[in-house]
Amino acid sequence: MKRIAVLTSGGDAPGMNAAIRAVTRTAIDGGMDVMGVHEGYQGLIADDMAFLARRDVGGIMQAGGTMLGSARCPEFETLAGREVAVRNMEQHGVEALVVIGGNGSQTGSYVLSQMGFPVVGVASTIDNDLEGSDVTIGVDSAINVALEAIDRLKVTAESHRRAFLVEVMGRHCGYVALMAGIAGGAEVVVIPEQEVSPENVAQQLRAAYDRGKQHAMVVVAEGAKNNAERLVEHFQTDPEATGFRLRVTILGHVQRGANPTAADRLLGTRLGEGAVRALQAGQTGVLAGLRGNRVVTTPLEEIVGRQKPIDLELFELASIMAR
Ligand code: ADP
Repeated sequence: MKRIAVLTSGGDAPGMNAAIRAVTRTAIDGGMDVMGVHEGYQGLIADDMAFLARRDVGGIMQAGGTMLGSARCPEFETLAGREVAVRNMEQHGVEALVVIGGNGSQTGSYVLSQMGFPVVGVASTIDNDLEGSDVTIGVDSAINVALEAIDRLKVTAESHRRAFLVEVMGRHCGYVALMAGIAGGAEVVVIPEQEVSPENVAQQLRAAYDRGKQHAMVVVAEGAKNNAERLVEHFQTDPEATGFRLRVTILGHVQRGANPTAADRLLGTRLGEGAVRALQAGQTGVLAGLRGNRVVTTPLEEIVGRQKPIDLELFELASIMAR
């Protein structure tokens, strides 16, 4: 194999740059050329790609986001769109593609590989909901941003009887909320996988107050049915229910823009290298991920359409720690 292309697709995640760098340098080290595709699948269809040399990917690892840009591209979901993408790659002599992205993007990888074009995915999403990888690129940075916010809010919550509701990212998946909740010592964690009613949240806060806690922290995943907005709405109708005065913070997109943590830079580097090694070994239609601290590949067909379940024992752990 003489020439490959690399792109980042879907939601950007801290650590994607480390993966781009690793793909580029591993491939060049193996005697291949690398083309960087701009704006995800959009760039494949628009024929927006350029060669990457070793130096082009220098100095990018510490930055959040992705130097190649990312996009959502509905056209790639059509066969006609994908045919244009394949034609453009073939015209450039590109023989295989590395796709750095999450669930949607890896579905794109899968359908592309089904058309006979060699593709390897790299597990990257701050939601950590991809099968085939214990952790995904970006999630550690997202947890750390949430944790920093929680720690700071705890300091201001030290005035009596104050509870903070912090809403963190996670559209369908409560992983970031749960991990940040455990690491930040939250009294209550609200995630989509284990819905609790507002009354139940109020009861847990009330119980914490009755146990003598002067302040409390509730960490909520944005995708929970009872997200921060719904919970506050409920508590406003009965301000005495919890025992605490409530304050709300919605972190939103600040979690995406974080500088990648060491863990995400290392993961990006290892998975980027792993993806190129897989292509060199003749693999296609697989995802490079980390399992038991080893870089492994998993067939994309085992991954698409699935969401990695959260370990509910961790939810139990969060609740024991809150008592
Ligand atoms: P993420 O990878 O972060 O989950 P999205 O779900 O938005 O992001 O998907 C990113 C892109 O992947 C989409 O805009 C589309 O181009 C491509 N994609 C998603 N689903 C499919 C599909 N079923 N077939 C082809 N391409 C898809």
